[in-house]
Amino acid sequence: MKQKFDIGIIGAGLSGLHLANALLKKRIINFILFEKESVIKNDKTYSFWKGPGLFDITRTLSVKPRKEWSQIEIKTQNKSHIIDLGKYRYVCYASKTVLEELYQRVSKNGIKIQRGCSIKHIEKGKNHWLIHLKSKKIPFQYIVDSRPNKKFDDKYPSLKQVFIGTEIISTKKIFDANIATLMDFSDSKNSVIFTYILPFTQNRALIETTCFTSETDFKLLEGLHKITLKKFFVKKILRSEKAVLPMSPYPDLNHSDKYFRIGNFGGASRPASGYAFTRIALWANQIDTQKIFSYEMIHYKKNNLTNWLDKVLLSAIRSNPQSAPKIFKYFFTKVPISSVIRFLADQPKLIDYLFIIFKLPKIIMCKGLINLYVK
Ligand SMILES: Cc1cc2nc3c(=O)[nH]c(=O)nc-3n(C[C@H](O)[C@H](O)[C@H](O)COP(=O)(O)OP(=O)(O)OC[C@H]3O[C@@H](n4cnc5c(N)ncnc54)[C@H](O)[C@@H]3O)c2cc1C
Repeated sequence: MKQKFDIGIIGAGLSGLHLANALLKKRIINFILFEKESVIKNDKTYSFWKGPGLFDITRTLSVKPRKEWSQIEIKTQNKSHIIDLGKYRYVCYASKTVLEELYQRVSKNGIKIQRGCSIKHIEKGKNHWLIHLKSKKIPFQYIVDSRPNKKFDDKYPSLKQVFIGTEIISTKKIFDANIATLMDFSDSKNSVIFTYILPFTQNRALIETTCFTSETDFKLLEGLHKITLKKFFVKKILRSEKAVLPMSPYPDLNHSDKYFRIGNFGGASRPASGYAFTRIALWANQIDTQKIFSYEMIHYKKNNLTNWLDKVLLSAIRSNPQSAPKIFKYFFTKVPISSVIRFLADQPKLIDYLFIIFKLPKIIMCKGLINLYVK
C-alpha cells in the first residue's frame, strides 16, 4: 500500500531542512520534502555572529565554519573604522556544507526528499491540500512553504536587499585576512550601496556589491559590481552568488487553514539587515518545545520591540538613503559592540535597545520615526 504523508514541505533549503530536523526530534516522520534543485549547490555564504549569550550553532551543526573574524570594518567617506569584536566573532559557513549535514540527518531517518521537483501549483481541497506534480496530485493535511515570494509586501518602510557576490583570487596580497569589511559605502542619492568583503586569505575573498533599495535592478548592480571588482586585481573568479532578500517588517505570514509560510519570506529575514540564518536556527530550536503540529508550533514568534526598532531604522534609511552611512557608522562605532551584536543576532537585552536608541543620530532617527507614522 502507498504511504500517505500528512505534511508536505516545499523547499529543502535552510528553513525546510531545519524544520525537517526539528520534526524528527519530536518523532514526527510523516512528511515529505519537495525540492526544485536536483543537487545541493554552494551558492550562498551564511555569515552570522557568535559569542557569549548567543545561540551556539554547534548545538545543531557539527560542520566547521569556513572562517571567523575577530575584527570588522565599516568605511564611510573613505574613512575606515576598525572595530574589535572582543569575545564575539563574525563567522561564515559555506551553504553546501550546512545543507548537506542537515540533509544527511533527514535522509538517514528514511525521510523522502523529492529532488528536481519544482512545485508550481497547490490546490485547496475539501479537507486537504493538493500538491500538483507533472503526472499526479498528492494530498496533504498541512503544507509548509519556503518558496521565495517575489511579490513580498512593499508597504513602507520595507526595502529589498539586492546583492551580487564574487569569490575571487587576486594577483596581489591586498586583503587583511583578519578583518571582515561589513560596509564600505559608495555615494548614492536614491539607494544605499556598499561593498562587503569576506577575506579568506591575503589574496582570496568574497566581494559583494549590495544595495538596499525599493527597486530591483540587477543590470545596474552588475555594472557597479564590475567596477568594484576592478579594484581587486582579479586573477581568477571562483564562484558567485546573488540575492534579492526582503527587508520587511511585514513578512508574508499569509497562513490559512493548514498552509504555513516559513523561511526568508515567512518572517525569518531580519527587517533591518536581511540576515536570516540565526533566526532560522533559533526558530527551529524553539519548535521542539511545542506539542502538536500547528501554526502555533511553527510560526516565527517575532519580538515586538526588535521589530519596532527595525521599522524605525528602515524608515530612516528609506526616507533618506543618504543618511545610511552615518546611521551605520554611529551604530557600529558609538553603540557598544556587544549590544550591536546581540541586537543583530536577535538575542538583545533591554540595555542594548537603550544604547541603540540613545546613541544613533537623533535628528535622522526622529525623522525616521515621524515618517513611519505619517507615510
Ligand atoms: C546568496 C545569499 C546569501 C545569504 N547570506 C546570508 C548571510 O550571510 N547571513 C544570513 O543570516 N542570511 C543570509 N542569507 C539569507 C538567508 O539566510 C538564506 O536565504 C537562507 O537560505 C534562507 O532559508 P530559506 O529556507 O528561506 O530559503 P532557501 O534556503 O533558499 O530554501 C528555499 C528552497 O526552496 C527551493 N525552491 C524554490 N522554489 C521552489 C519550487 N517551486 N518548488 C520546490 N522547491 C523550491 C529552493 O531551491 C531552496 O532550496 C543569504 C541569502 C542568499 C540568497
